[in-house]
Amino acid sequence: MPSITGEVIPFYEVDVTNESKVNAIFSQHTIEGVIHFAGYKAVGESVEKPLMYYANNLMSTIAVMNACLKHNVKKFVFSSSATVYGDNAVPFKETMTLLPTTNPYGETKAMCERILTDTAKANPQLEVTLLRYFNPIGAHKSGLIGERPNGIPNNLMPYITQVASGEREYLQVFGNDYDTPDGTGVRDYIHVVDLAEGHVAAMKHSKPGAHAYNLGTGKGTSVLELVQTFERVNNIKVPYKIVDRRPGDLAECYADAKKAYEQLNWKTKYDVVQMCEDAWRYETAKQSVLISE
Ligand code: UDP
Repeated sequence: MPSITGEVIPFYEVDVTNESKVNAIFSQHTIEGVIHFAGYKAVGESVEKPLMYYANNLMSTIAVMNACLKHNVKKFVFSSSATVYGDNAVPFKETMTLLPTTNPYGETKAMCERILTDTAKANPQLEVTLLRYFNPIGAHKSGLIGERPNGIPNNLMPYITQVASGEREYLQVFGNDYDTPDGTGVRDYIHVVDLAEGHVAAMKHSKPGAHAYNLGTGKGTSVLELVQTFERVNNIKVPYKIVDRRPGDLAECYADAKKAYEQLNWKTKYDVVQMCEDAWRYETAKQSVLISE
């Protein structure tokens, strides 16, 4: 967005599973590195449509990597996910053996990591960085860009903002009988701007081989803690009801964030207070745009 970055970036709308279209773009530019974000990301949908998820997420990664090899692009940063750790003990650390993931979405991330690691082994000039995202929330401070899910949100923060704005009646808290301090699920929420800066750091510090890094704060926050923080900092009520656990959810998921700090010289700057403020600023800005449309 030029009003945020001050730069106009060429934009092409193509299906990145289409290798010849990807190659055509690579031919028009000198590309120093690629950050491959594209992919389907809804866990529930991946359980219903596994082939769609495997085809899209794997073929896009293969096509973009093939284009990199063909055009001699060395740096490749991949959007992976904390879900590749499976049900390991927290905090999740990059040296851990990955355990089975609980859904096809997570499996596509684990498989892409393996595909890219093998490709880096076979092509020693490649610098592959696998970024394992924890739970990105919040929005840019300008209120200009943020999360706008289609239909009913799957994730916690967009659900909270829609309940706060009155668009939905109440939040369903999925389980309060986990083995956690208040019984609700614990996650490592990371501000989207910190996450974005993690990619810049990854590009700057990339090195030959394939290297995985956690992008998280290292701090766990429960569902009820997040709801209470949101209510307090924005001075607004978020009605909720406790309901059954959501199948496939882990009790706790948070990062050991040391490796990214030591090797990428990156750490998070924002806490859940700012994440809640920024998410709400975006939601209210979005509401005024919707009203004027
Ligand atoms: N959650 C919840 N109600 C919702 C959505 C999520 O209680 O409507 C809980 C969920 O069980 C988990 C946490 O919030 O403990 C984060 O879920 P989210 O879907 O945002 O991310 P995930 O960690 O599943 O990738």
